[in-house]
Amino acid sequence: MLNKREFYINGAWVAPAEPRDWHVINPTTEEPCAVISLGSEKDTNAAVAAAKAAFPAWAATPPAERAAIVRRILEQYDARVQEFAEAISMEMGAPIDFSLSDQATCLPWHANNFLRAFEHIEWVKPLGDHAPGAAVAQEPIGVVGLITPWNWPVNQLALKAIPALLAGCTCVLKPSEESPLNAMLFAEFCHDAGVPPGVFNLVNGDGAGVGTQLSTHPDVEMISFTGSTRAGRAISKAAAETLKRVTLELGGKGANLLFADADDKAVERSVRRMMENSGQSCNAPSRMLVERSVYDATVEKAAAIASSIKVGPAHEHGNHIGPVVNKRQWDQIQGYIQKGIDEGARLVAGGPGLPEGFNRGFYVKPTIFADVKPGMAIEREEIFGPVMAIIPFETEEEAVAIANDTPYGLTNYVQTGDQKRANRLGHQLKSGMVEMNGKPRGAGSFFGGVKQSGRAREGGVWGIEEFLESKMISGYDFSLD
Ligand code: NAD
Repeated sequence: MLNKREFYINGAWVAPAEPRDWHVINPTTEEPCAVISLGSEKDTNAAVAAAKAAFPAWAATPPAERAAIVRRILEQYDARVQEFAEAISMEMGAPIDFSLSDQATCLPWHANNFLRAFEHIEWVKPLGDHAPGAAVAQEPIGVVGLITPWNWPVNQLALKAIPALLAGCTCVLKPSEESPLNAMLFAEFCHDAGVPPGVFNLVNGDGAGVGTQLSTHPDVEMISFTGSTRAGRAISKAAAETLKRVTLELGGKGANLLFADADDKAVERSVRRMMENSGQSCNAPSRMLVERSVYDATVEKAAAIASSIKVGPAHEHGNHIGPVVNKRQWDQIQGYIQKGIDEGARLVAGGPGLPEGFNRGFYVKPTIFADVKPGMAIEREEIFGPVMAIIPFETEEEAVAIANDTPYGLTNYVQTGDQKRANRLGHQLKSGMVEMNGKPRGAGSFFGGVKQSGRAREGGVWGIEEFLESKMISGYDFSLD
């Protein structure tokens, strides 16, 4: 078992102020794979103090130098990507090939998009010819607390730490206690890339401890959070006393509107997208709304595809899906599967219990319910597992009404051969993102939701701007710049 009890504070690995062990469980074996420490207030305070002390110099470091350090972090990633992918796979159950091809690559993908956008940030610009001497300056907000979940751990880390560093902020990262190992490797990348002491700090801990300490800390100017809507609400309340900026990326219950004129890959694409990462994606298309004329055939096809998806150990090569992250998650998913049955939805693939051949590991059968009615728990609540709900619709208006009738608004999906309809629905669906016909978000896009999915805009130029404060200066002489 790995001993990972130390925190990264002020450029060095340090022992926790008080011992409080936490076992990181490998979801494939159900055995501990590492021991970390859960930090205390003293650890949080030490990390925030280091970040505060480092802030003036880092904020004053020329942007091109900050960008050069981020490029050096990417060189560290290149040299150690296999190790990185193995850590993710071991701690949260992503199969190793998927961990390497999809999870780990989030870091260079986002970092390169940020670096491209960063070149276009105007640090000081005139307000306009109508207002001589009026300048709008962009400045880093200060010390930021970064709190991340376990499901796409590197994605969230990259969407927060890279733009914070580029913007000139100093930070304290608290990764999920379920998946801290990849973040600890990232801290090593920062160290070896020459990030100055105090600029990037990492303290492990839980939500009630380090998470809350960061959210309430008077020297933390901003919390960037990704995780559950429940925790997002708690953080917003905790942060209210110090009136810090809070950006939230929360849960989702994406609708996927499939019309009779959709291309013949649409059903397969939709089911695979749902089951990817064992359904543990905030933007999973978990409600498939199907036009009545193709409903029966679609249900049959979707069930066959789900049943063909293999489940297997995270360390094995192949294109199977892995276990879900932990016992709590497994129990929660099983509870929803049972609720779906009890509420009268028609189980057409998967179902309760472990898949055949397994008596260990937090595996869930890829599960599909048909004839789901709006309002059922499996239609309304985020399950965060490989469980899809299929709902029939008669008209486009009805489909939009069902899709939008949710407290969430992260990503919705449309499958149709009618481009006019696609454009129309792009506007009518209430979510931060809409994906048409399997077209992924382009490089440099933002990621973010509306309503109870949170309102952050992470990625690209928007993701850097979240870490900046605009300042209005009048009487400015641009000729001196
Ligand atoms: P979680 O909310 O339980 O935990 C996320 C992080 O917040 C962890 O680091 C945890 O320790 C911390 N935390 C928990 N309670 C806290 C509190 N009161 N104060 C401060 N920190 C606290 O979520 P999870 O189970 O790790 O992740 C799954 C959830 O994340 C799902 O709801 C999923 O939809 C959401 N998610 C959203 C996005 C997005 O971008 N919208 C991306 C990934 C995951």
